[in-house]
Amino acid sequence: MKIRKNIIIKGIVQGVGFRPFIHKLVQNYNLSGWVLNSNQGVEIEVEGNTEEINNFVNDIKEKLPPLARIEKIEVNELPLVGYKGFSIKKSIVKEEDSFVLVSPDISICEDCLQELFDPNNRRFRYPFINCTNCGPRFTIIKDIPYDRKKTTMNNFKMCSLCQGEYDDLENRRYHAQPNACADCGPQISLYQNKRKSEGIDPIEKAVKLLKEGKIGAIKGLGGFHLACDAANDKAVARLRRLKNREAKPFALMSFNLEKILQYCKLGEKEEEWLVNRARPIVLLKKRKDSLISPSVAPRNNYLGVMLPYTPLHYLLLKDNFTALIMTSGNIADQPIIGDNQEALEKLDGIADFFLFYNRDIFNRCDDSVVKIINDDNVFFRRSRGHVPHPIILDFKLKEVLALGGELKNTISFSKENYIFLSQYLGDLKSAETLEFFKESITNFKKMFKVKPEIIACDLHPDYLSTQYAEEIKVKKGLKVVKVQHHHAHIVSCMAENNVKEKVIGVAYDGTGYGDDGNVWGGEFLLCDLKKYARAGHLKYYPLPGGDKAIVEPWRMAYSYLYSIYGPKAKTLDIDFNHRMDGNSLSIIEKMIDKNINSPLTSSCGRLFDAISSLIGIRDEISYEGQAAMELESFCASGITEIYKFSIYKEEEKFIIDPQEIFIDIIEDLKREIGKDIIAAKFHNTVAEFTLNLCGKIRENTGINEIALSGGVFQNKYLTEKVILSLEDKGFKVYIQRKVPSNDGGISLGQAVVAGSK
Ligand SMILES: [Zn+2]
Ligand SMILES: [Zn+2]
Repeated sequence: MKIRKNIIIKGIVQGVGFRPFIHKLVQNYNLSGWVLNSNQGVEIEVEGNTEEINNFVNDIKEKLPPLARIEKIEVNELPLVGYKGFSIKKSIVKEEDSFVLVSPDISICEDCLQELFDPNNRRFRYPFINCTNCGPRFTIIKDIPYDRKKTTMNNFKMCSLCQGEYDDLENRRYHAQPNACADCGPQISLYQNKRKSEGIDPIEKAVKLLKEGKIGAIKGLGGFHLACDAANDKAVARLRRLKNREAKPFALMSFNLEKILQYCKLGEKEEEWLVNRARPIVLLKKRKDSLISPSVAPRNNYLGVMLPYTPLHYLLLKDNFTALIMTSGNIADQPIIGDNQEALEKLDGIADFFLFYNRDIFNRCDDSVVKIINDDNVFFRRSRGHVPHPIILDFKLKEVLALGGELKNTISFSKENYIFLSQYLGDLKSAETLEFFKESITNFKKMFKVKPEIIACDLHPDYLSTQYAEEIKVKKGLKVVKVQHHHAHIVSCMAENNVKEKVIGVAYDGTGYGDDGNVWGGEFLLCDLKKYARAGHLKYYPLPGGDKAIVEPWRMAYSYLYSIYGPKAKTLDIDFNHRMDGNSLSIIEKMIDKNINSPLTSSCGRLFDAISSLIGIRDEISYEGQAAMELESFCASGITEIYKFSIYKEEEKFIIDPQEIFIDIIEDLKREIGKDIIAAKFHNTVAEFTLNLCGKIRENTGINEIALSGGVFQNKYLTEKVILSLEDKGFKVYIQRKVPSNDGGISLGQAVVAGSK
């Protein structure tokens, strides 16, 4: 007996070859009906006998196309209509509220790569070759359902050959929306001195210029890169000078793993992440002697490296260069540039040439950055290749727009059991980033059809994201929920691990506004998804100069010394005092004594800064986290010793006082113990007091689950020690794998706190 079934498939099912896959699959069965893209996902209707239909549905799940992901399948029986044959119907848009998942951008696939370098292929050396299994997605999509006319490919009309492929069910380019060739698709051009160079091959010319040591602005998938030959010291130094970037590491791109092995060490996991279709930047341990210029990442043991991900990258790198620097094309703290004209204006004076193409980038998106910690990936930045794939919860939330923090800002939207985290937006203090932030809110709202009832933001009254929340609250009459910074961090970790029960949250970071008005950052919270209680923290010390102390770690070092030794601090016979100017130290003393611009802080990041300066590694920084990163880079391996510390109770809270750490380190400095040993002993001590206090809190509460979050946990040495020692004592430890543990992840936590209240 025949029946009719309606099948709705939700997940990443558009723009991944799903309909042709269904059309092909259905040929194995005696079924009639149709398939189409709707704004719920993919909808199928079939008529046939029950067994055939059941087998067909099982086959869908088992034989999925490479980029597809099924979240849910709904099957309903309907009265027979008598379908003849099976067809792909036109996309329909039904309800306003329904939405589909959108695929991130995916690196060029093996098949396309083969064709790219095949002289007999009609797309030989065509820089925009793509197919259903690869190419741009999120960065070119303006709206859903995903169809060519709703992408920035809309301006290009397919030639008859391309159209033929697009219409041919058996073809790899069947309904590949960005399908194109040299005759009908986007074109590349090279500009020098604001003029288009005619009569040259733009790619050959670009390679030639890069080999001469020139700097190029090269349009990528999500925005421009500034590129130069990473083996050319002069070029790298010049890029640093022009970009006004003193020491922050530059990312590299090499043609293949063999090239990367010439200058970095690769573990199995690192390799896995490098070749991953999302093609993130992976932080790899440097080899000591290599051709790469030391100024690519000064005083850092790691290099950020990625493999090519667009055909254009492959064309530039094939048979050329050990590595190219490929750093985001932007000015200082501004967002990545995606527009040709804007690049010409803003990067003029940095780039010697521009490699453009005439397809627009709709959603700008930086490269993602991961590092392997404890044998698994940790995101430093989650952007291209991962956004807009949602974080999936096993419970539903109210619709919330969460505005994130201030630095490394991201926004999040919750919808049903999904949370859509935006790409990395940057530091909101820059006016351009604030614009990018507002633009992304608009784009995400539209793309995922969300109508938030609640706005979530940080407690910090001065954050621009908080002020923006107040602004739209008044305009749109929405409810605002303010979420404490470290609570957001811990809930972000809980959410991605689908933990709902109360945990001991350890949040170590640089700065977060506390509910007592102090600057928090070394926090032990007892919390669930709705609320928290502060169980313990690092002892408060003054932060002389506030924000200034963040860029000048020597201030924090002296704040500790002065608080511990009093006026005698200046006379300690250590290199720190010989290096510092006595006058400056006296000013710090006065600021602390008179409580001038010296808020109290329990920041763990500042403790790392202070040690870094105290032992002579870094007194002033030129990028966020520099002092702590360099301190980590110094750590000797095989050291197990620790320094003394004390933990005591004050008003029902545990306080960790690092005073004895400083006293011990000064002894070590006087005994001329190496910085590498001191650095390792210090890291060991932080791991030890973390374990010790978690143990005390477990004794009091019986809670055995620990969630770790905050930027400090991007420190590999520390995090591996902490996990190992906690697990050794029987704790269940959760860390962040899907979203960054730095402030790039807090919008997720905010959304969950506000959405579950
Ligand atoms: Zn392909
Ligand atoms: Zn064509």
